[in-house]
Amino acid sequence: MNSSQIEASTTRKAKLAIDGGTPAFAQPLHVGRPNVGDPTRFATYMHQVFENRWLTNNGPLVQELEARIAADLDVKHCVAMCNGTIALEIAIRALGLSGEVIVPSWTFIATAHALAWQGISPVFADVDPDTHNLTAATVEPLITPRTSGIIGVHLWGRPAPIEELQSVADRHGLALMFDAAHAFRTSYRGRRIGSFGQCEVLSFHATKVFNTMEGGAVVTNDDQLAAKMRLMRNFGFAGFDNVVHPGTNGKMIEASAAMGLTNLESLDEFVAANKRCYEQYALRFDGIPGLDLVLYDPAEENNYHYIVASVSDASATSRDRLVEVLSAENVLARKYFWPGCHRMLPYRDEMDVILPNTDTIAARNLVLPSGPTLSPDDIDTICDILELGARKSL
Ligand SMILES: *Cc1c(COP(=O)(O)O)cnc(C)c1O
Repeated sequence: MNSSQIEASTTRKAKLAIDGGTPAFAQPLHVGRPNVGDPTRFATYMHQVFENRWLTNNGPLVQELEARIAADLDVKHCVAMCNGTIALEIAIRALGLSGEVIVPSWTFIATAHALAWQGISPVFADVDPDTHNLTAATVEPLITPRTSGIIGVHLWGRPAPIEELQSVADRHGLALMFDAAHAFRTSYRGRRIGSFGQCEVLSFHATKVFNTMEGGAVVTNDDQLAAKMRLMRNFGFAGFDNVVHPGTNGKMIEASAAMGLTNLESLDEFVAANKRCYEQYALRFDGIPGLDLVLYDPAEENNYHYIVASVSDASATSRDRLVEVLSAENVLARKYFWPGCHRMLPYRDEMDVILPNTDTIAARNLVLPSGPTLSPDDIDTICDILELGARKSL
């Protein structure tokens, strides 16, 4: 095919914005645009908050949200926090982790920071090229006498190989917890994420599938661990004037819980919209050379929140150039989590690590807009641009 035939083979006829054309979208399309439930429900909850004059400190809406989430995930305890990062820090401290903890490099930087922030060395493991998750084979060789634990990440909401990691942890007497920031309402072998390892950490940040604006939680079946974390998130107070544990301020505010209760009511709709987007992308990607979609396992429950593409050498246009081309069209695709934590400034000089799979994934990864506000036409337009770039060097 010559280039004009290639152009004709896609549905996009308009001049690209990088060539001086009008952007395909008048407003920017963001990855992780916040999901917002019914504003009148939120107003009703907030009215309650003002009536109660109870704004924070384990208020009734926080307690209600915790109970609902625990029931939803079939786990004994949900300890709500002000954000996912503090939830990670508190979980790490409550588990008594120290020395070295093995984490994937291919994750959001907070997973590593939550350790380094409290003087623990994150030891970066490679991930499986297909699952983007840790495996026993990438973790086990990194265990040293200083290793105290493993933090698995359910990246993109796709579960880490939990049983495999649990047996590594058990064999070496290590703690195992999960960063489940992406994995609200997803499952592993038919059971909802939330009760695996010693605890799992959720993020309810504005960009996540379920948000409380800012927020997070640790979920666990361990009574003692939950009690300890409740103390830690509230300065160690066991009652008035009675501090029994070192602690910090990790409390969720009532307004966040109001947002959470509101959004829980619409969560099924958010997920259905994500699934519609995902299926449309999957269908279109089937016909695009050099572009592969990171697939969700249809046998599991998924939240379909992340549309993750991999741009291989078979694409005529490189990943980085595609990001520029899309950006000119007002499609703000992201290279999450390029370049990997092990290549970020705070960590890159300390470690002498080679993570070939992480480097390959980081060079290819492209996260695309999704969610309830994206129409089928929007997705078609995004795919037209991608297809043009994949077939022809832009
Ligand atoms: C969002 C996120 C966090 C941090 O959560 P915040 O609520 O933003 O503090 C941690 N880990 C991963 C993998 C995340 O995506």
